[in-house]
Amino acid sequence: MLRSFAYVRANSLSDAFKQLDGPAARVHAGGTDLLGCLRDNVMAAQKVVSIGSIADLRGITPASDGGLRIGALTTIAELAAHPVIKEKYAALAQAASVVASPQLRNQGTLGGNLCQRPRCWYFRGDYYCARKGGDTCYAIGGESQYHAIFGGGACWIVHPSDTAPALIALDAKVRIAGAKGSRVLALEKFYVLPDDNVQKETVLEPGEIVTEVLLPPADPAMKSSYRKVRARGSWDFAMAGLALAISLKAGKVDRVRAVLSGVAPTPWRSLNIEQALLQKKLDLVTITKAGEAAIVGAKPLEHNAYKLQMVRGVVEEVLGAIAAKA
Ligand SMILES: Cc1cc2nc3c(=O)[nH]c(=O)nc-3n(C[C@H](O)[C@H](O)[C@H](O)COP(=O)(O)OP(=O)(O)OC[C@H]3O[C@@H](n4cnc5c(N)ncnc54)[C@H](O)[C@@H]3O)c2cc1C
Repeated sequence: MLRSFAYVRANSLSDAFKQLDGPAARVHAGGTDLLGCLRDNVMAAQKVVSIGSIADLRGITPASDGGLRIGALTTIAELAAHPVIKEKYAALAQAASVVASPQLRNQGTLGGNLCQRPRCWYFRGDYYCARKGGDTCYAIGGESQYHAIFGGGACWIVHPSDTAPALIALDAKVRIAGAKGSRVLALEKFYVLPDDNVQKETVLEPGEIVTEVLLPPADPAMKSSYRKVRARGSWDFAMAGLALAISLKAGKVDRVRAVLSGVAPTPWRSLNIEQALLQKKLDLVTITKAGEAAIVGAKPLEHNAYKLQMVRGVVEEVLGAIAAKA
């Protein structure tokens, strides 16, 4: 049952910061995740502050450094269809195009996609799990089919966003603003592992808002892609996936960023994959070694060891496709 709360529409960022200055005040963008969380008592709200009318948070515009500035209220559908993103930052357009369903892509925003709460059935269900303040992660010894194989510990959720791994592969930054000012940080540093703080997924402090995402100028030699494996052909979250940004020079891998999705409590940057590729020819031996490297250090739970083969397969498939076109 949805408990009662106050609802206000902020008309500017400073108004939003004022409205958010209080206990259990929540940011509302598209509402596609927030309202489900409130209905299911995943978190409490005394006040819901809509940021949907704040014009400063909209738009995809060229940045002064030659990169791209994407306002937090940009919808997932806008990201998927934007011609510059499709051409120069393909991983992001591809990731956006496989988020949820068309209706959710039209309503859901980039800021909300980056800040959505995890989908673990214990966290979303009637379990007082570690993430809700309890002392148990019920996935350990429980139904762990869709849980993490990397980065677990106090909690084994998987990070749910498809756009976040793509943006991290593309080396994006995020701007966070609050009553005390704003800061820009690498999106990679935005997410928090359970062993650092089991009740938070991001570094956001109460009252702070993600205002924009900043993409660096696109390297013309860089190719990027996002591949997601899901249980169903229609909408579904990633069981495993790979966001890759890679440039080849004189036939060898010159630069690469590889980020796995669906396998860890944060988008999982795989330095193992990157090291297996750097300065190597993208041939069958390298591709096989990158697939093997991708699962080094993984710790599957009782029901999710299938993800090891899935990760290897995704890595080999994505790299094989790039090699075939090189
Ligand atoms: C059925 C279903 C299937 C889905 N499948 C996928 C999928 O396959 N892949 C995927 O990536 N996602 C998936 N999602 C998640 C969906 O993409 C998100 O719900 C959506 O992107 C959230 O955007 P929103 O604007 O509606 O956020 P809201 O629901 O408004 O907010 C979500 C959370 O983020 C916070 N928030 C929102 N905007 C900001 C901001 N600018 N700054 C700080 N905090 C903010 C809110 O307080 C809230 O906690 C699915 C969701 C549903 C319901």
